[in-house]
Amino acid sequence: MALRAYDKIISRCSTICRAGELALTARILSGTEIRDQIYADLKKDIAELKAMGIQPGLAAVLVGNNPASQMYVKSKVAACSELGLFSEMITPPDTISTEELLAMVGQLNRRDEIDGILVQLPLPKQVSAKRILDAVDPEKDVDGFHPVSVGRLVAGQPGLVACTPAGVMEILRRSGIAVEGANAVVMGRSDIVGKPMALLLMHAHATVTICHSKTKNLPDVVRRADIVVAAMGKAGMVQPDWIKPGATVIDVGTNKLTDAALAEKLYASNPKRLEKFREKGFTTCGDVHPDAAQVAGAITPVPGGVGPLTIAMLMSNTVKAARLRRGGRVAEPAAAKG
Ligand code: NDP
Repeated sequence: MALRAYDKIISRCSTICRAGELALTARILSGTEIRDQIYADLKKDIAELKAMGIQPGLAAVLVGNNPASQMYVKSKVAACSELGLFSEMITPPDTISTEELLAMVGQLNRRDEIDGILVQLPLPKQVSAKRILDAVDPEKDVDGFHPVSVGRLVAGQPGLVACTPAGVMEILRRSGIAVEGANAVVMGRSDIVGKPMALLLMHAHATVTICHSKTKNLPDVVRRADIVVAAMGKAGMVQPDWIKPGATVIDVGTNKLTDAALAEKLYASNPKRLEKFREKGFTTCGDVHPDAAQVAGAITPVPGGVGPLTIAMLMSNTVKAARLRRGGRVAEPAAAKG
């Protein structure tokens, strides 16, 4: 049975083999293309709100000088200006106390022109991240981390959902991948990816298995999945022979790979990528071995898969928050409803 399915996939292989390169069989689910579709929808939505005198606004709180955090926040602010959202960056020094930061969040909660508040993590050691995140008004919780947002997700009520798993659902929906009735395996149970991911898939009527570091016989569990979501932070751990032929593989993992021996293993079938790794000494790789693309029916690349959707969903959540905060006065357009 498995062999017949595998033959089918091989027969629809469309990539021409070049010397030293293996053919891909999987359809590549491009996150950048899906992000562009979402942005096009959001631009219409934002124009509609502007015509009603509403410009959704995002406040980004960036504490200290962490270069990675600065880069993330800059790209979020740039996305706001590309889409015509109001944005504001608040940049307290890394000596700030929990009480001072709580006061800043309180001010943002009270400002009506701010629809979304994001507090970029990590926060300095002396600051209680939990107290800060819990202080964000749940109506403005565009990261979807507040316990009220999580509770709404569990209860299946409308609300703001964590951006990365929401982005994965957009990839599946916009790529026409059937979720209802599918066996879905989520590897990882973190609050920001694995748990909300599993809940979203369950609400979309998949039969969901959640795996973590104590799961026994992980490869066997993954082999039963029609949809695999890998979110462990373990470079290239999911092997091609863990994947059921034809399955959809969503690779959330974003790992900085510097281990040359592992890079040689992961990119043995991709000489160009290996060459680039040797030049730069690192690359960004997912949790799934790239050769899984020879077995899967559809797969997200890393980079360029789930990554671009995270910011897109932050923008989408800001617009959603602007509508939800104003209740029935500006109902969500039919196109935006999942
Ligand atoms: P966490 O470290 O918070 O969680 C990792 C999860 O993976 C845990 O639940 C852990 O299990 C599980 N895990 C770890 N090792 C294994 C193993 N050997 N077998 C099975 N399960 C294992 O990570 P995050 O959820 O924050 O992120 C996961 C990955 O997704 C990272 O690579 C991160 O960079 C990426 N990411 C990408 C985003 C994007 O925009 N593309 C956004 C957010 C994250 P246990 O609970 O038992 O410890």
